[in-house]
Amino acid sequence: MSIEELARANVRELVPYQSARRLGGKGDVWLNANEYPQAVEFQLTAQTLNRYPECQPKAVIENYARYASVTPQQVLVSRGADEGIELLIRAFCEPGQDAVLFCPPTYGMYSVSAETIGVEYRTVPALEDWQLDLQGIADTLDGVKVIYVCSPNNPTGQIINPQDLRVLLEMTRGKAIVVADEAYIEFCPQASLVGWLSEYPHLVILRTLSKAFALAGLRCGFTLANEEVINLLMKVIAPYPLSTPVADIAAQALSTPGILAMRERVQQILDERQRLVEALQNIPCVEQVFPSETNYILVRITASSAVFKSLWDQGIILRDQNKQPSLSGCLRITVGTREESQRVIDALSAEKV
Ligand code: PMP
Repeated sequence: MSIEELARANVRELVPYQSARRLGGKGDVWLNANEYPQAVEFQLTAQTLNRYPECQPKAVIENYARYASVTPQQVLVSRGADEGIELLIRAFCEPGQDAVLFCPPTYGMYSVSAETIGVEYRTVPALEDWQLDLQGIADTLDGVKVIYVCSPNNPTGQIINPQDLRVLLEMTRGKAIVVADEAYIEFCPQASLVGWLSEYPHLVILRTLSKAFALAGLRCGFTLANEEVINLLMKVIAPYPLSTPVADIAAQALSTPGILAMRERVQQILDERQRLVEALQNIPCVEQVFPSETNYILVRITASSAVFKSLWDQGIILRDQNKQPSLSGCLRITVGTREESQRVIDALSAEKV
């Protein structure tokens, strides 16, 4: 047997997640991964690299619990929210038997994680306004153990109606876990479902330091849920999911001054987003600018593939969403610095319609 044939069938067929980094490009304006545009400085304080780290570093857990207004028992820290996505499938889905469900267009790792683990995934396309098709979900729920709802949604940028989430949570009580992916919640904190944890034992919330905390390179994310869920996830997580330097920096980022600095960054991005939206609305090749509650803007563009390529060749790297259901002609633009926005505005304005 060839090495290829030795691999699991689902892995042979797997199309890996096309992360912004994997897609490459030679740019000087990187607006394709919803990162914060500037690096924040940190000093390492922990020097005990001869020892294994704590599995769940106490300072990180306590600081995040304080920030999120939950108890430390309701927090799990992992290698990015991406690891949280995977842990939930590993803890709750029997391969070949249970399924996960999500509503495209949405974040791409839900399907990739399910496929890698060998768990079936089902999709119920979002409605025309990208809200949940609750009837469609109800009709597809048989055998579903985990439902991912990204709010605000990547890449469309809107918040999922809280009333619909209530209906979903009632519909799934005792049957499935509902995961609210709040990777971008710092840009619209009032929309968080964290206050609902006491009402719903099957609600799980994913968070990250990769966006508003400006730490995508740190790889640090959080799962918030009731203790029973956290204890199950603790069984399947790796023994040392975070390195000592990661825990060190994460604890600093979640200190009181760290959180204040994050809130200032959020305000700066929201101001810049407003400016970018207004400019985009006056550019001929831009057909539609969708409202955003996040640090990115989805736009529908005339001849989007050619425009995407043209900007790419000028070193401006955006994210092409054209292949996602209902997003034909759509590009996603991360809100970066004032200078980066200007480069995008100038380049798009120069495109002929
Ligand atoms: N969920 C969503 C909706 C995201 O956009 C991302 C980042 N691409 C993640 C989760 C993963 O975040 P992390 O960097 O913490 O793994």
